[in-house]
Amino acid sequence: MKIVLYPDPNLLQEAAPVEEFDSELREKVEEMFPLMYEAKGCGLAAPQVAWLLRVFIVNLAGEAGKGEEKAYVNPRIVEKRGTVVAEEGCLSIPGVTGPVRRASWVRIEASDLAGKTFQEESTSELHARVLQHELDHLNGILFVSKVVPSQQKLILKKLREMREGVPAGRA
Ligand SMILES: [Zn+2]
Repeated sequence: MKIVLYPDPNLLQEAAPVEEFDSELREKVEEMFPLMYEAKGCGLAAPQVAWLLRVFIVNLAGEAGKGEEKAYVNPRIVEKRGTVVAEEGCLSIPGVTGPVRRASWVRIEASDLAGKTFQEESTSELHARVLQHELDHLNGILFVSKVVPSQQKLILKKLREMREGVPAGRA
């Protein structure tokens, strides 16, 4: 398992709901955490490891042994409030960041790895942002498509460079 990078087609597909809450699900989720830490991220969605199921993981501390590790299976946002614009990046689009408008607070409903449904309210703007960013991945949506209009041209240029294999920042 490894983190796939833009323009990998897995990143642009809608992931399928999880139906079996089995040991394979738990094992694959366990494999995702070290990959996330290695890449210095605080959230990672299954399509980012070429696994097209509706699963993502979060640890806001972004470090093994710190913070809380959580897995969200078949998640959906059931309530959201406020808006806030902040700089966002993605482990699958290294070197590219841009300002994205998101809800500042969300309530999410998901299943845990045992199939038990839970609800969670975001505890910070960052937490709300990570939940929304990861949920977008399950629908094949990348943050770059949500960057505020004034920055879109620059983002499109960087993406084109990634697709063509030209390092960002060079002519
Ligand atoms: Zn991402």
